[in-house]
Amino acid sequence: MRFPLTDQLIEEAARYELRSACRDCFFYVPDQARCAHEWPDVGQGRWPLDAPEPDGSRPGEAEFCKEFELR
Ligand code: SF4
Repeated sequence: MRFPLTDQLIEEAARYELRSACRDCFFYVPDQARCAHEWPDVGQGRWPLDAPEPDGSRPGEAEFCKEFELR
């Protein structure tokens, strides 16, 4: 699920200590750096939400995985 990455979302993610990326998911296999379901990373692995794109730009959207389970 994609949502616009607004300043409000970034601020609230920090304030409420949001955990939504693969690194905090029960299904993430850290020693293999992959999802146990083998879902491709289409942005849900990015953390923090506003981490720059490879070209240095700020992302315009935040991706949330429907399978996420807090570790
Ligand atoms: S289930 Fe989703 S959030 Fe969890 S590790 Fe896999 S891709 Fe990431």
